[in-house]
Amino acid sequence: MRTAIFGGHKVAIALALCAGLALPAPALAASFSACVDTLTRQVVAEGVSRRVAERALGAARYDEEVMRKARAQPEFKTPIWDYMGFLVDEQRIADGQTMMRRYDRVLREAERRFGVNRYVIAAIWGVESNYGQDAGDDFLPHALANLVCGGVRAKFFRGELVAALELVDRGDLELEELYGSWAGAFGQTQFIPSTYRRLAVDGDGDGKRDLVKSAADALASTANYLDKAGWRKGESWLIEVKAPDSYKGPTGRGRKASLSTWAKRGIVRADGAHLAGGAQAGLLLPSGPKGPGFLVFRNFDAIYSYNQAESYALAISHLADRLAGYPGLRTAWPTDDPPLSRAQRFQLQRLLLAKGYDVGEADGKIGPQSRAAIEAAEKRFGMPPTGRPGGKIYRALGGR
Ligand code: CA
Repeated sequence: MRTAIFGGHKVAIALALCAGLALPAPALAASFSACVDTLTRQVVAEGVSRRVAERALGAARYDEEVMRKARAQPEFKTPIWDYMGFLVDEQRIADGQTMMRRYDRVLREAERRFGVNRYVIAAIWGVESNYGQDAGDDFLPHALANLVCGGVRAKFFRGELVAALELVDRGDLELEELYGSWAGAFGQTQFIPSTYRRLAVDGDGDGKRDLVKSAADALASTANYLDKAGWRKGESWLIEVKAPDSYKGPTGRGRKASLSTWAKRGIVRADGAHLAGGAQAGLLLPSGPKGPGFLVFRNFDAIYSYNQAESYALAISHLADRLAGYPGLRTAWPTDDPPLSRAQRFQLQRLLLAKGYDVGEADGKIGPQSRAAIEAAEKRFGMPPTGRPGGKIYRALGGR
């Protein structure tokens, strides 16, 4: 998550990388080394201790893999039902309920301190790092040095590098804890370093803000983030609704109206309850009027600010509801090819491998190689080639 910070910059990134990659390899290595020397001096000039800067960057090497990730084109256009199916599957709900019991005291304390609903805090934790299990394995100083020296938003990432190393200087973290995503987000709730510096808080009272090892710190920091993003205590974030199939009225987070107004426009609650009152909400119809609809409140906007994508905020909001014991969506997505859970994606890859398709290693992550294999299998079965990990190809291959 949090790679949305690149929105709109992809063309610039691609151009910068083409320029960098035109150099022959030894020249690249030499220029990278010179760049890291300069970068080390710069971060020291900006206030990082020389000892930490040299330890962090001393072993930095040009890393083709970071550049490959930075160069990746905007994501394959994922249908909303696949996105939601992947992020809000039964396993993430069950794991979340287990973790919420284990961290009950910590979550209630974060809720009390910042007024933010604990189910929403837990949902962000679950989506960002699978409840602290998967926070990324790139060493931040090296990844950030590659982005700076590769010319990828150099000023921005240099600032992130300085912020990360300052956390080490301040004693919040050990240098060896700075592992996360190649683009700088790290810890159990995937803050980028400048956000960490600004909004991380100490949740367990040991005087340090350690969002890597301390779930209490991470969960309190997420609550603080949402509070600063305008969370309103005690208010809802979303309700599922249904629009008339022919609905052509206003939609969008920004076009809020009272619940009574929505009722007059023909919107009904999916659970059959009465829709009324003055609370302000916007209508989202991510798959058109025939699919599930959502009335989203100010607190949904606070969740949105965490990753600046409506699909993300919908997944968090729905997962929070599921963790709180509410049922799944009442209206089906308008597709006859249902999404797969993470376990089914993993199984799909194993089925493809068993049939001789090359998906690399079965890891549950559907990348370009898996998509190509799915497409080849779809052709073999006489299905339209989509490359999408859906229920139809899964069943055709024998999945259950
Ligand atoms: Ca702490």
